Parts: sequence; structure tokens; C-alpha cells
Amino acid sequence: MAVKVLLSALMAFVIYFFTISMHGANIITWIYGAFLLYLFISMIFTGNINKYRRIFQLVFAVLFTISFIGNLYDERGSMAITQNALFESEIPFCHLVIPVSIIPYALTKTIIFPARITGHYAAIVSMLVIWLTATLTIGRGWCSWACFYGGLEDGFSGIAKKQKIKLLPRSKEIRYFHFAFFSFLILMSVAFLSSIFCVWFCPFKLITEFTPIVDIPSLIATFVFMSVFLIFIVILPILTKKRTQCSMLCPFGAMQSLLDPVSIYRVAIDTSKCTSCMQCASVCPFNAIDIETITQKKGRPEITCAKCGACMDVCPQKAITMEYSFSKLLTKKCGTNVLNPDNKIQKFFMDLLDPKHVFMFSAFTFGVIISSSLSTDGIRRLISGMLSALQLGGN
Ligand code: SF4
Ligand code: SF4
Repeated sequence: MAVKVLLSALMAFVIYFFTISMHGANIITWIYGAFLLYLFISMIFTGNINKYRRIFQLVFAVLFTISFIGNLYDERGSMAITQNALFESEIPFCHLVIPVSIIPYALTKTIIFPARITGHYAAIVSMLVIWLTATLTIGRGWCSWACFYGGLEDGFSGIAKKQKIKLLPRSKEIRYFHFAFFSFLILMSVAFLSSIFCVWFCPFKLITEFTPIVDIPSLIATFVFMSVFLIFIVILPILTKKRTQCSMLCPFGAMQSLLDPVSIYRVAIDTSKCTSCMQCASVCPFNAIDIETITQKKGRPEITCAKCGACMDVCPQKAITMEYSFSKLLTKKCGTNVLNPDNKIQKFFMDLLDPKHVFMFSAFTFGVIISSSLSTDGIRRLISGMLSALQLGGN
């Protein structure tokens, strides 16, 4: 109890530090801060990670979209992006392009997409520092806790009560497809010195920005990105209850999966408690637990685990937990009986350093940092849009 209160108080400080420093002390920051704090307190006191994480990510995705489109109209008067705007405009840096931009950048010394390039290296550098820190700590957990797009799939996947299409028997093939598509994107980006994903496949152009239709290739590209959005963000998540774009197409997700072994948290399955009920595999949005994971008693999900918490919440045996990647090494070096659980002070610190608590705190902190400015701007735009609509209605 004391640990949960302490972590909640610390989170209140983190939330208001970032929301106020990014958007000033005003009614919007206080309300958004209170909302974040409510989610964190609910999560830490109930232990129900996935429910409150999903609410956070869905709200963030919607507010991000409002903020992003609003900024585009303020700057350019439309969502269309031209070649000039590509290199000169004020578009926030998008983490999805990191893996497909690195090699073209190294070869051409030009950041090809997205913009916010001219005089805004600080924005890119700070984003890269946040990403690097997140990679070393929460790893692919970024996709479940900090990505401003993932909430859309979380939202659509929650619409249907039951899975209409079961992807569980195909989990392995889906993982292979994701890495094969990732390799294809890297090769194409190097071959054409262009971010092929952004130009041809990005499903988020429908809610961000897109090249105007001026010729046949741009017409085809528009058709592709609209189809990808509808199929992978809306229809398949509703039918499968999975995050299909994240687990099949996203280059950033694939890269984070490959880098995840360097992160300090991992999900562990206690095979001695597991009864092979497969509930965890059924709910995993990232196809990271399949029949083999359980029957072969691997003891942990596959490489695509994004640490969303769904499996932990649902496991009836409480066999799935969060652990530190170095905990086995620590046990080997120090043994298991170093701490005395009857000692109140030691018990307090054991509880405080429980990997589940520390993970929730650090993962939510990344969500707070990434969302604070975008979400508060989204709320501001939403309120002013509603007030304008009311005024128009009154006239
Ligand atoms: S939900 Fe728990 S008991 Fe069921 S298969 Fe998964 S780990 Fe085993
Ligand atoms: S294995 Fe568990 S924590 Fe990892 S992505 Fe799947 S449901 Fe989420």
C-alpha cells in the first residue's frame, strides 16, 4: 500500500512537471494531468495494466490526430504535402521512420522524411534521445505505451466482443512476415535512397499528411495508403482483436523487437504454474504467444512482445509476470536468501523495486513525456472547435 501511494505521488510530480513545462499551467494541463494520474493510480492499485494502458493510448491517439491535423491546417491550410513543404515545413518527427531513414541519411546526409528539418535538429535529437532511452529500458514496450498511433488499433480491436478471425494458428507466419517486410523496406530504402514506407505504405497518411494526387504514381500511392489504413487499422483489428498493422507492417515495431533483448524488462511465464489454457495467447495483440510458446514451455513470449500487460491481466494462474532481464544473473551471484521478507524495511524496498511496479512507472512516464504537449494541444483545439460550432449554431 505504502509503495503504491509513494509511486502515485511520484507520478503526480512527473505528470505535472511535463504537462506544465510543455503547455503552461492552465485548466487544460490540470485536467489532462488529473486524467493521467487517475489512469496510473487505477493501474497500480488494481494491477490491471492493459485496461488503463489501452484507455491512455486510445485517448492519446485521438488527441494526437486532432493536434497534428490542426497544426497542418495552421501552417499550410491543408493536409497535402509538397516537395518544398517536405523539406521546409514544421511537421513533428515521426519515430516510425527511424529504421528506414538511417542508411539513406548516412549516404545522402539528407533526412528524407518527415520534415521539421530546417533549424529543428533539436526536435529530432531530443526524439532520438527519448527513443534510445526507451529502447534500453522498456524496449518494444514503446509500441504499447508511447506510440501515438497504436491506440487507434487498440480502439478498433475493442469494438467486437469476440474474435471473428482467429490468428493464433498463424502467429509464427505473421511474425516471419513482419521481419521479411521489414527487410524488404530496408533494402528498398537503400536502393532508392528514399523512405519507401512513408512514400508507399504508411497507413497513417489518412490522419496526418499526404502527397497531392498529381499523376498516376501519386494516385496509386493514395489508393495504397487508404487501403492499408482501412484493412490494417480498422477492419482486421475489429475482426481479429489484434494490432495487425503493428505486428505485420510497422518498421519501427520490427526494429524494436530486434532491439528488445537489450532492454531491462521482460515478460516471464512461470511454466510450473501454467496449465496451458491458452488464454494469454488468445488475447496477445502482438501474436507473441502461440501454441509452441506454451507447449514447448519456453518460459517467455516470443520476440514481438510489446509488454502491453494483456496476458498478465488474463492469466488465471497468475503465471505471467514482469521481470528484470538481469534478475537470473543477480540470483546466481547473490542467491535467493539475501533478503529477509519479515523485515519491514526490506519488504518495503522489495515491493518498491518489484519489476512490475518499476516497469509500470517507467513505461507510463514515457507515455506522459511523449503525449503531454500533443494531447494538451489536441484538447485545446477540440474545445475551441466545439465553442466555434456552438457559436455558429447560435447564429
Ligand atoms: S494464460 Fe496463464 S495458464 Fe493459461 S496458457 Fe497462458 S500462462 Fe499458461
Ligand atoms: S506477450 Fe503479453 S505483454 Fe507481450 S505483447 Fe503479448 S499480451 Fe502483451
